[in-house]
Amino acid sequence: MPRDRAMMRQFELVERVKSYDSGADEDALNRAYVYAMKLHGSQKRESGDPYFSHPIEVAGILTDLKLDDKSIITALLHDLVEDTETSLEDIEKLFGKEIARLVDGVTKLTRLELQSEHTQHAENFRKLVLAMSEDIRVLLVKLADRLHNMQTLHYIKSPERRRRIARETMDIYAPLAERIGMHRFKDELQDLAFAELNPDGRASIQARLEFLKGRGDELPPLIIDQLRRGLANDGVDAWVSGRMKSSHSIWNKMQHKNIAFEQLADIMAFRVVVGDIGECYQALGSLHSQYPVVPGRFKDYLSTPKPNGYQSLHTGLIGPERQRIEVQIRTREMHDVAEFGVAAHWKYKHGDMKVDGRQYRWLRELLDILEHASNPEEFLEHTKLEMFQDQVFCFSPKGDLIALPRGATAVDFAYAVHSEVGDTCVGAKVNGRIMPLRGELQNGDQVEILTSKAQTPSPDWEKFVVTGKAKARIRRFVHMKERDQYSELGRNMLQKAFREEGYDLTEKALDGALKKFRADNTSDLCASVGQGIHTAREVLVAVFPGVKDAEKPRRMWPFGRTRPAAGKNKQPGVPIKGLIPGMAVHFAHCCHPLPGERIVGIVTTGKGVTVHTIDCETLATFQDAPERWIDVAWEVGDGTEPHTGRLKIVIANEPGSLGDLSTIIGKNEGNISNLKIANRSIDFFEMLVDVEVQDVKHLTNIIAALRAAPVIISVERARG
Ligand code: MN
Repeated sequence: MPRDRAMMRQFELVERVKSYDSGADEDALNRAYVYAMKLHGSQKRESGDPYFSHPIEVAGILTDLKLDDKSIITALLHDLVEDTETSLEDIEKLFGKEIARLVDGVTKLTRLELQSEHTQHAENFRKLVLAMSEDIRVLLVKLADRLHNMQTLHYIKSPERRRRIARETMDIYAPLAERIGMHRFKDELQDLAFAELNPDGRASIQARLEFLKGRGDELPPLIIDQLRRGLANDGVDAWVSGRMKSSHSIWNKMQHKNIAFEQLADIMAFRVVVGDIGECYQALGSLHSQYPVVPGRFKDYLSTPKPNGYQSLHTGLIGPERQRIEVQIRTREMHDVAEFGVAAHWKYKHGDMKVDGRQYRWLRELLDILEHASNPEEFLEHTKLEMFQDQVFCFSPKGDLIALPRGATAVDFAYAVHSEVGDTCVGAKVNGRIMPLRGELQNGDQVEILTSKAQTPSPDWEKFVVTGKAKARIRRFVHMKERDQYSELGRNMLQKAFREEGYDLTEKALDGALKKFRADNTSDLCASVGQGIHTAREVLVAVFPGVKDAEKPRRMWPFGRTRPAAGKNKQPGVPIKGLIPGMAVHFAHCCHPLPGERIVGIVTTGKGVTVHTIDCETLATFQDAPERWIDVAWEVGDGTEPHTGRLKIVIANEPGSLGDLSTIIGKNEGNISNLKIANRSIDFFEMLVDVEVQDVKHLTNIIAALRAAPVIISVERARG
């Protein structure tokens, strides 16, 4: 939004407002201009400009959005209460209640800004929300204020202050602008902040764009022209334009999708603007018949608008000049909404200053909550803020605000508070209720972490945490634990090997072998045996050279199995990963786990590992022994050995019904390995049937087929 450098004069501003709102209060506009100029007086900005140039610029930005006279007046007055002797009462006396309320809202946001450091307290956050939701115009004035401050950011001398303002713009104001659909504002705010926060990153994008421009000559104008003519040939009168994406959004795209931009589609968005909705689809049809379509790129935000009100048809084409391009098709009104969001509605619904409940449902919901909540705590408990797209804001019981990436769980929260809290967390109370640790946190949640000294990080957590800090801590711990398991296994193997030759395994004996095996301590040595790097016998021979390093039976393996080939953890028929090589595996008879089901292993001394389904009730027995749980998973594509699933079937007691049962199972390639009638009445049998299947999907298919049979009354997995 390029603006004149020279300060806009009084009559120019009034004329601008009158050009789109003939009913604007000319007198009030004039009075506000003069009043603000007088009170800001000789104040100067860091640029050396008179301070008053700032509120005028902010007002000017808002005239570009064609906002009502009250918003423009608010813009002129917005810094008076904070920066001059003027009080809110003065403003109310001179300009009325409504203007005073709007100015108050903007002032509150400004104060919040001054206080905001890394953590904001709940009360402040609430003020922000309250202030902006009272009247969306407060937020619009604040965004224009921030935009102008960002446009003049380079005048600020202190690098720390520049960074803080840029950071805040990136984290708070750009997302807010996006949330209310003001994409132009969002892009400009982000780009200006990006330039401050990452000048090198921005420079590299700019250089790349310049290079492509130089190489591609006049490619975009050529493409625009061809698109327009092609559409005209099909009778669609369209305005076609191409806009460079912002350097920050290109940067983001390159970071997240790991692409190097060479394609026009990655840097340009082509817009086709037509008269009405019918023509949108007509234009789409025309383009799709002229150019090859890039699959997977079509999106219809016309019939399903985005929550912020955005509407468009998106498609990807191999367009003119054989370039892969992205095209957005919409009407003029939709185009304005796409660029200016909520502000665009003023243009189309003059005088209607109420928030449109249908399109800004989130704001409506917020207002409802505020109206019905009696105190801040209750407010927080019920708030479902959806303002920030990629972050959630949660509160500690003391009211500290903790920002986390979207999708964060209670475990992420715990690690964000302190590593120790993370390591020992056993549960979480969210808004006063106990919640599972893996539960996704929502904006406004108050989170209390419950800890226990006995707790240690669980490998399972790694699957659902989203913050790097949590991931790193958990992974470190899991590695340590794995090593401990290897070490213990190795010790068992050594003990057995020593005993077979009539020796006791002592620390002293092992100490003597450390050097030979280049181990730092006995625990490491045991781990290397557990991992299969050295055999127990090698260690035995090293300690007692008298023992013949020969054909002793390979019965040193603790679980009575022969040792599998080194480095492989596959045993025939046991396609499980996550196990220590060679560990014996049993499938629990309580739950009959099948490939494809989520499983967990329980270490049983002398027996190896028993695999249960994750929801098996037997697991409750091991709750107090977390050290016995190990994380296991099915090895993909190795399900050649059949597994047994147990079904509880109720079947009609009539001739041929058992025959039907076995036919259905056979047809579905299952094999009945065992069958037991549990109950028998005049009308039905109740029986337990063991079926050999490949995996859980296979069993599910069989269950479905059985359920479809008329003689079968019910079928379910038998548990316990
Ligand atoms: Mn200001």
